[in-house]
This record gives sequence, structure tokens and C-alpha cells, in this order.
Amino acid sequence: EIACGARTRRIARSVKISYKDRIVVVGGDAPVVIQSMTNTDTADVIGTAIQIKDLARAGSELVRITVNNPEAAQAVPAIREQLDRMGIDVPLVGDFHYNGHTLLKDFPECAQALSKYRINPGNVGQGAKRDTQFAQMIEMACRYSKPVRIGVNWGSLDQNLLARIMDENSQRATPLSAQTVMYQALITSAIESAQRAEELGMPGDQIILSCKVSGVQDLIAVYREISQHCDYPLHLGLTEAGMGSKGIVASTAALSVLLQEGIGDTIRISLTPEPGGDRCKEVFVAQEILQTMGLRKFMPMVIACPGCGRTTSTVFQELADDIQSFLREQMPVWKEQYPGVEGMNVAVMGCIVNGPGESKHAHIGISLPGTGESPAAPVFIDGVKAMTLRGDNIAQDFQKIVLDYVQS
Ligand code: SF4
Repeated sequence: EIACGARTRRIARSVKISYKDRIVVVGGDAPVVIQSMTNTDTADVIGTAIQIKDLARAGSELVRITVNNPEAAQAVPAIREQLDRMGIDVPLVGDFHYNGHTLLKDFPECAQALSKYRINPGNVGQGAKRDTQFAQMIEMACRYSKPVRIGVNWGSLDQNLLARIMDENSQRATPLSAQTVMYQALITSAIESAQRAEELGMPGDQIILSCKVSGVQDLIAVYREISQHCDYPLHLGLTEAGMGSKGIVASTAALSVLLQEGIGDTIRISLTPEPGGDRCKEVFVAQEILQTMGLRKFMPMVIACPGCGRTTSTVFQELADDIQSFLREQMPVWKEQYPGVEGMNVAVMGCIVNGPGESKHAHIGISLPGTGESPAAPVFIDGVKAMTLRGDNIAQDFQKIVLDYVQS
């Protein structure tokens, strides 16, 4: 027997993040959760609420917003109110650095409106101040019963802890490499901070950890290691993944290795947006990673061939693109009306070489005519040739066939 997709999920505690009746579970045997982050000025209530709405409608199950100053903290309850008016109940996560202890204390309505706090142990102060300010943030999380993510980032590592680990390393008979020391510092920062939070009264099932780095192999190494030293749920993401295809490829390469090993309970794809680009792209990429790996289903998949010299027109590429856009647009309504539709496959193929074969494997498939083939496009439904389309309206006719299939 050859096992397809064999994968054992790491066993983690489960953490509930909620807003009103909406409960998002991270960890345990819950599906891997998709999250994203706004890039608006949080003090801009309307602009931020609109972006959160767009991200949530695209499929982001948690949305993080930066809470970086008093104006932002003051805006948070107003953003939540706007979202309530729009019917958006996605839980909001507050991202705090440097002054989180003060903001949470001075703006209790903000502390209450958020569903989770992100704490970066490298950015809560240094020395004695670090311990006090970290404790103040944990105290607020306990007071409002909010889970936290202790999110370490190698761009903002706790320098005292790094110095301590380097010092310990220098005492070893065979010192570890500088790279391993860095990994150890990241992991130790996350786990020691979580243990400290528990000592301060934070329930263990309210803590999620992350250790973000920007290199693919570094991320894999760090998460493989931390996954063996704790059972807190893990938030995966390649920080500063980059722009365009580089960011997508690097994130996919790193996350798919870890997810296949059962590591990772929530993911964020941190893409640098292109000017005027759509922030929701990071949500679509996250969905596509999980769906192509067979871990979750979000929308019907379009299987399209790359095209080659056997087809000189771009008709089939345009059809594949049109069908993909059509399916994406329909999904918010379809997923309510037609449960299971997200598991559907639609094949759009460029010629007879692989067209009929691939079409038969899909729920619906069309094989467009390649160069020199007769101008006919056979359509297969559930593996059986159902009809042949001809003429100038093949795209519209095929879209209608897909719609009828979903509605039947
Ligand atoms: Fe080329 Fe036909 Fe294969 Fe598409 S199905 S890549 S057009 S040979």
C-alpha cells in the first residue's frame, strides 16, 4: 500500500479565540486556521474596518491590527462597532510592541474589544522593566480572559536573553554554531515567556507561540525543534517573506514542509503588497496552500494545463481564468447554499493530449481544441462525456454547465 498524504498532526493544546458567538479554535484537532493582518493606520477607523471586512470575507478567520499608540487604542472599540454594523464577527487580534502594557491599562475598552493579544517578548522592555511590563500585559490578558500569542521574531530578539545564551555557549566544551545559538535563543524566548505567563496565572490553554524568521530552512529548523519542547499551538509564518512570486514561493516551501510533518495550527502568509495590490491575496495564498495539500477545502479547484505549442490561442487560459474568478465570486453565497461545493474540481485543458483524461478525473472538465483539431470542446461530467460545445459562446456555455452542476 502506498499512502497518499500520510501525515501525523502534532498534538497541541487547543486555544479558543472568540467574539460573541464566533469561536475560532487554534490547536488540538481543529483545522489549521488562516489569519492575516491589516496595513491601514488603525487610528483610521473606517479604512481599517473596511480592510478587516475584506480580509474576513476573503476567508481570514482571525485579523490582526497594530495597536501602536493611544490613537490606535482609542480606535479599536470604534472599529469593532463598525464591523458589528457590517455583520462581521471575525475576532480581532491586537499587535503590541513597546507600549502594550500602558495601552491595555489606559484603554480598557480596547483591551475588551480585542479577542487576543500578540506580545513580542523582545519588545516589552529590557532588564527589570521587561519582566514588569510583560507581567502587566499578562495581567491584562488574565483580567479580560483573552488568549495571547507570544510571538518571537528574530528581528527583535530579547537581547539580554541572547547574551545569556551566547555566554552559556561559550562555556561549553564544544560550542554550538552561531546559527544554532540563534535558534536556541528564539525557542528559549518563546517557551520561557510562556512558562512565565503561566506562573503569573495565565491558563496554559490560552497561549499560542510563534518564532518567526525570514529564511525557509531557518523556519523549518526552528519549528521542528520547538515542536518537540512544548505542546502550545504554533502559529506559522515566514516573516518578511517578500514580494510577488518570491514571497509566495518561500512561504509555500517553508510552510508545506512543516504542515506535512503535522506542525502548525494557524498560518499567516506575510506578503509585501505590490503598489495598489490587494491585501486579500495573502488570504487566497494561505487557502491555496492548505487546499492543494489536502488539509482544508475552501473553494472549487480549477485544474488547468500550462498550454504549449499544440495550442496557439489563449482561449483556454482565458476560460480557466474566467472560471476561477467566477467560482471565487460565487463562493460566499454557494458555501451557505451548497455544502460540499468547495470540494469540487473543474478541469480546463488546452488540447486532446491530456484534455479528456484530466477532464474525466475532475467533477466537470472541458477539453478545448488544440491547433489542427476539429473545433469542438467535449465536456465531461463525473467522468462521462456529457456534451460537446462549439461556436463563439463556449465560455458562457461552460459557466452555465458549472452553475447547473452546483445547483443540481
Ligand atoms: Fe499542451 Fe495539450 Fe498538454 Fe495543454 S493538454 S499542455 S495544450 S499538450
